Amino acid sequence: MRIGIVGAGLMGHGIAQAAAAAGHEVMLTDVDLARAEAGRARVEEALRRLVAKGRMEAAAADAILLRITPGGDRAGFSAADLVIEAASENVELKTRIFAGLAREVGPQTVLATNTSSISITRLASATDRPDRFVGLHFFNPVPVMRLVEIIPGLATSEGTRAFARAFVDSLGKTAIVSEDSPSFIVNRVLCPMMNEAIFALGEGVGSVEDIDTGLTLGANHPMGPLALADFVGLDTLHAIMLVMLEATGDPKYRPAPLLTKYVEAGWHGRKTGRGFYDYSGPTPVPTR
Ligand code: NAD
Repeated sequence: MRIGIVGAGLMGHGIAQAAAAAGHEVMLTDVDLARAEAGRARVEEALRRLVAKGRMEAAAADAILLRITPGGDRAGFSAADLVIEAASENVELKTRIFAGLAREVGPQTVLATNTSSISITRLASATDRPDRFVGLHFFNPVPVMRLVEIIPGLATSEGTRAFARAFVDSLGKTAIVSEDSPSFIVNRVLCPMMNEAIFALGEGVGSVEDIDTGLTLGANHPMGPLALADFVGLDTLHAIMLVMLEATGDPKYRPAPLLTKYVEAGWHGRKTGRGFYDYSGPTPVPTR
């Protein structure tokens, strides 16, 4: 299949790697050629690490990289079977991209968005083909995470749903189908759980260590909710909770006050070196 990708950042380069590894031809684009090339360089670096660890043959890595063509414009998209948008999470930006794509792609092209929180139906209506539009929600890091949520919009056809499922299958990943509802399935369940853990911490129900040990050993989670929140980014978690609160008006989605405080302090988790753990040393140390 020929796949166009819009946005070569964290998710876009990961989707490019997963698609190329499955044998698809990938056109990876961003706002300019330099950023698209930077996305391809991130794939190259990830593949180099796999080869160094003995998990991939050098020839296989070279073949994957050869299937990714960086581009500063979307000239090649007219021949694409599928275009996946993975640009920054901004509704005006995405609407503009999709309005442009409707003119740049061929009549056969299916359009998909990797949005985490924007209505699929709303983005589909910015195009000329809401029946051939679908949400494909990947997880970070894309080459490692095995799940993709397929989110049909109101007008998405049966054919497009089947096409999306076949594409996810081709990547060797598992698809689940979610209604076009705020945060879809995984974040709908996961984010309130992390937020609740932060409420519990703020109320003094337990320490960072006890809450995370509780959920790892008591619920068999691979990591505790506070460590996971630090990994996701506390600013991101805060933004997702606000989207869910605004979309539903349900106060159960209000961000925990302690989460808001940490975001205000600039303690955003792993990426800033401090969240519920301090990451400045060789092993993370609980901060409360
Ligand atoms: P990112 O900031 O790493 O990458 C976004 C890229 O989009 C940047 O390279 C930026 O230059 C590019 N971009 C901006 N405007 C553009 C335009 N007009 N045309 C082409 N490219 C443009 O962000 P990300 O984390 O990769 O997120 C991308 C999308 O994936 C968002 O919708 C996000 O909600 C979603 N998502 C993120 C995660 C995650 O864990 N980060 C998980 C699932 C889904």
